[in-house]
This record gives sequence, C-alpha cells and structure tokens, in this order.
Amino acid sequence: MIHRIGLLNNMPETPRPKYSSRNIFLSTLVLLSAYFIYDAFEKEKNIPLGALPIEVPTLAYGVALDTFITKKDTVQKNQFIADIFLANKVSYNKMTNILAKGKDVFDVRGLRSGKPYVFLYKDTVSAPEYFVYDASPYKYYLFDLKKDTIAEIRRPIEKVIKTGSGVIESSLWNAFVDNDLNPEIAVKMEEAFAWSLSLQHLQKGDRFKLIFEEEIIEGKSVGIGKLYGAVLENSGNHYYAFNFRTKKYAGFFDEEGRPMEKQFLKSPVEYARISSRYNPRRFHPIDRRVKAHRGTDYAAPKGTPIRAVANGVVTRASYTSGNGNYVKIRHDKTYDTQYLHMQRFAKGISRGAQVKQGQTIGYVGKTGKATGPHVCFRFWKNNRQVDHLKLNFPPADPMPDDELPAFMVVKDSLMQILETIPSGDKMMIEEKATDPVASL
Ligand SMILES: [Zn+2]
Repeated sequence: MIHRIGLLNNMPETPRPKYSSRNIFLSTLVLLSAYFIYDAFEKEKNIPLGALPIEVPTLAYGVALDTFITKKDTVQKNQFIADIFLANKVSYNKMTNILAKGKDVFDVRGLRSGKPYVFLYKDTVSAPEYFVYDASPYKYYLFDLKKDTIAEIRRPIEKVIKTGSGVIESSLWNAFVDNDLNPEIAVKMEEAFAWSLSLQHLQKGDRFKLIFEEEIIEGKSVGIGKLYGAVLENSGNHYYAFNFRTKKYAGFFDEEGRPMEKQFLKSPVEYARISSRYNPRRFHPIDRRVKAHRGTDYAAPKGTPIRAVANGVVTRASYTSGNGNYVKIRHDKTYDTQYLHMQRFAKGISRGAQVKQGQTIGYVGKTGKATGPHVCFRFWKNNRQVDHLKLNFPPADPMPDDELPAFMVVKDSLMQILETIPSGDKMMIEEKATDPVASL
C-alpha cells in the first residue's frame, strides 16, 4: 500500500530501489498506522468508515511529492544558480550541461531572490532527480536532472467572475485594503474612472459596485483579471464604466458609448490629497500676504512619482527659487501643464523630451517656496493659467455608429448585473454562480 510512484504529468515512472531507507520508513509507517487503526477498532467497534484517515498524496509541480525526499528553500540575495546547484549535490558538469541545453527555455539571469525552489531526491545519498524553480504563481521551471531538460510549465488559470459593492470611508484603495481584499481591483477601477472623475473627489459615503474577474491558480487567488464594469455614486451622480473593445480601441466607455479616456488625467499624482486649490485671492503661508494661487497643490510623501497628465514635449526642466525644480510640458497648441517643487526630475526628463501620458516625470519634494512636500500643478490654456478642475474638456470621439448596437448589448447586460448587486453598508464580494458575462 505504498503510493504509486512517479510523476503525474507525462513523466516516466522510475523504478525504486527495493530496500531504500525511505521504503523501510514508509513500510514501518504503514504498519504503525495499521496497528493504530486496528487498535481504534478494538476500542470503538462502530467507527464509521469515513472517519478513517485517507492519505491524499501531496501534489505539486505535476509530481506526487510524497514519493520523493524534498528539499525546499528560497533564492537568497546575490545567489547564483551555480551556488544552489553545487550546494545540492548537482555536479558542475551536470549543471553546465543542463543549463546549456535548456538555455532557450530558462535564462539564468531570470533567477530572483526570494523565489522558492525545491530539489526532489529519491533517497538521501544520490544526486537530486528534479529541480523546480518556482518563478511566479503563473509558472515554474521543471529541471529534469536525469534527462538534462528544462521545461517551463504554466499553471492553468481559472477565471472566476465576481461582483462586489462597497462604501468609501477614506479612499477607494482603502475600501479594499481595509476589507482584506486585493487592492489591484481599486487600481483597475481608478484606471477606468481616472479620466471622468477625479478620484480625489470621492467622499466618505460614496458607493460603488463592480463586476470583475479573479484569477485562481490551484485554489489560490493570484490576481485580478478584467474589470467588466463598474459604477461609482458620487454626490448623487452615477458614473458608469463598461469594458468594451471596438475595432480601434479597447477600454472603458460610459453608458452612452463615449470612451472614458479624455485628453488629460485629472491629477498629476495618484493617491494624493488636494491641500490647496486654485485661488486668485489666497493668503500665502510663506509670504504672509494675499497672493493669487494659480495652481492646485497635491500633498504627497516625498519621492512619490509625478506623472505627465497627457502626452507632450518637455519645454522646461529647470530651477527657480520660487518654483524649485519644475517641469513644464506643452501638450498641443492650446494646453501646457507645469509641475512645481520636485525633489528631482525623472531620468530622461529635460527640455525637448517627449513624454507619454502617465509617464513619471519627477518626484514629489519641497524645493523652492514650499512648506511641505507637495506638487503645485499648474494648467495653462492659451498661455493663461486656469483652474483645471473647472475645465470642461471637449467630449472625446463618439463610438462609430456601426459598433454602437454591439456595445449596447454588452452595456445592458452589465448594467443589469450591476443593478442586481445589493448595495449594503459593508464591503461585499461574491462569486457569480453563472457567468452571464462570458456569453456576451
Ligand atoms: Zn501651489
């Protein structure tokens, strides 16, 4: 009654030495268990059969682990694969041979500290038969040390559709973190709504509902897949986002089918707090007099990345005693944006550099006239500074007429699901038994 020996995934069965110490150990174990089971029967004659322990082999990496002696560890800082192999009975020749043969599958430079690995031995004296490098939840590398082959094995991902609802206490991010939920969902929602609604405007009590996909590997959640749709209720207004792909563009659309992507991100720093608004009559804290504040201040910890709110060309990356280190970007013939008090510029940011929307251009600091770390964000329209929070940008291109009906079908189904999600006062995530989204 020893376990079936061998590998489960198209691995050949390997004969076992008949009298290995492990076999003797296993046989002893079996005899001992048999004795205890017999003993239990003697004491309690009517034990139901289901109460007896059933040994389930531990499966991992396509291998019945119980049939091997395993040695698990994690890659240490500055450790090379050679250090690991040579310390585990793999000869130098064996190592160079397998790495050379498998070099197209596994790049030794891909070894990362902190990642788990395991050696599988048939017994305590021989060299290991397998080495597994667990590169990520999504894949591992199986080194067959007898055949000198390396295989990259992708773990099958199961996608589960989930719906959820919640209430904002302090931020969207915290709504997830405070409830032990993956904040990756918050990031996806922020991506969806970044254009249409400044997330700094979310207030305590604002509600949201969403439909998303969770990626499960071997029973464990490994990440968030697609966000299908979401609604945010902010000061009585409902903001919808529906994931859809047209011939030209894949992304989020509002309920009318307008792409949610507009020309500018609403803020240059993620997760920042507005500490001072655009105000032509502000009392200046350092100069101690009324002085127009023609920008919006976003307070954030020193070193927080500052992102370009739209594509453009850097026209200034310099220093003045008032602005400190600052960057100015020309977006088109109408709009410029400017970012003040940076600790430093990001790599490659200098006059003439092309920047992409969302690209990090510098880091929050307090250079120049600033009482604390923040970015003073200035928005220029036709060379005059304006309050960007009050600007109404022109609507983005509408969806082409021939694609609108298909979008409406998707939107209606998602809308229907969103409406069935109860909105309670607590964060709630549940699995959808059926997958209405897949049929879209
Ligand atoms: Zn300012």
